[in-house]
Amino acid sequence: MIAGGGYAGLCLALFLNKFGIKSTVYEAYAEMKDAGAALTIAPNGMNVLSQLGLDKEVIKAGQVIDYYNFKNQRGKLLARLDLKAVEKFGQPFVVITRSALHRLLYVHAIASGIKIIFNKKLSDIKQDPGRVAAIFEAGSHAEGSLLIGADGIHSAVRGVIFDDKYKEVYTGFYGAGGIAPKQSLGNGINASDDKAMTFTFGLKGFMGYSPMNNREMLWWCNVEADEQEVKQKFSGMSNGNLKKMIADDYADFDKPAPQLIENSDKLVKTMIYDMPGMPQWYKGRVLLIGDAAHAVSPTSGVGASLALEDAMMLGKLLSEYSADDYQKVFFEFQSLRKPRTEKVRYEANKRNSEKKVLTPFQAKIRDWMMLVFLRLFGFKSMDWQYNYKIDL
Ligand SMILES: Cc1cc2nc3c(=O)[nH]c(=O)nc-3n(C[C@H](O)[C@H](O)[C@H](O)COP(=O)(O)OP(=O)(O)OC[C@H]3O[C@@H](n4cnc5c(N)ncnc54)[C@H](O)[C@@H]3O)c2cc1C
Repeated sequence: MIAGGGYAGLCLALFLNKFGIKSTVYEAYAEMKDAGAALTIAPNGMNVLSQLGLDKEVIKAGQVIDYYNFKNQRGKLLARLDLKAVEKFGQPFVVITRSALHRLLYVHAIASGIKIIFNKKLSDIKQDPGRVAAIFEAGSHAEGSLLIGADGIHSAVRGVIFDDKYKEVYTGFYGAGGIAPKQSLGNGINASDDKAMTFTFGLKGFMGYSPMNNREMLWWCNVEADEQEVKQKFSGMSNGNLKKMIADDYADFDKPAPQLIENSDKLVKTMIYDMPGMPQWYKGRVLLIGDAAHAVSPTSGVGASLALEDAMMLGKLLSEYSADDYQKVFFEFQSLRKPRTEKVRYEANKRNSEKKVLTPFQAKIRDWMMLVFLRLFGFKSMDWQYNYKIDL
């Protein structure tokens, strides 16, 4: 049984199916949901999708990114990196809408005969040495030999098996974003923005943007803010007020930041959490994967790719051991995956400091450090994140 039909859950079901193991996905939503704006799938995530034969479809539905641009808020280009991702890692970085990736996995799961049952929000778990039962809101339940909690950062499965002992923590930032038509940006974008993801660092916050396709630009921002203050501000906030708040925060940024905000219809907003390392990811016949086990800040750009890696690794291990050896599988899975996910979280939190509110003097130092470091060393120091491969 898989609780949660997100990237980790659907991808796990597809790998299990590939190895001839039956699973059923139980998803809380009543139907496939359009899950917000877009995200980047890094080469390590693309390498997982290629094992399911889905990489080409993802590339077709998304936008390949060949360059990273780093700018300050005045628009000064601090560094431009040629990612050479296919050459180095075998797959590119791809920006894709969340719903396009989700639908792709969903359509392939259904076509493979995988059972996905909606309206099944897990609220409790009962287990004895021989079986495990998932109890859903509204009273229904399902039984199986194993239960995999792929139910995201606010995981109910984690809450139940560990009595709410381990909780996600606020990273100190809120995020918002949207999609604007390229046409509406006039001379706000130029040729160097083509096939590039641009990261802009200012005094008050961070903004990134990238093409989604020939017609649209995706943007997202992170602003340092107090948790309770943001909670209060966000509760019941209209799209118009959200837009105004962000427009005020980014008014001093060079083009195209203000134009991107102004010309986006529907904005998405979220408070950003991550999951501190837990001593154990499993209990009895229940194991956590994806964000439920190790959510990392979006600054890493690989949270979804880690969820896909988990799915592949767990599918592979379950295919190599007999069903009775699940404890060995869970132990090995955690031993193989935990050090990597904790390193990603640590690095992402370190890089979050570049997004903090700074004085003009501190910002000058940050810009200078970025310029020197990136021009001298490029992106090499991050290769370990992207060159991870699982052999089948
Ligand atoms: C602002 C933002 C930007 C991001 N950008 C990127 C990016 O560019 N690149 C990247 O790699 N990652 C990014 N991430 C991280 C990425 O979104 C997550 O790491 C990824 O979605 C995790 O996948 P998952 O399947 O583990 O969890 P989710 O995608 O959260 O899926 C969980 C599923 O479980 C379901 N569910 C929840 N509760 C229950 C329940 N009780 N019972 C049954 N089902 C349940 C949910 O409805 C959902 O379908 C970003 C995250 C944020 C917040």
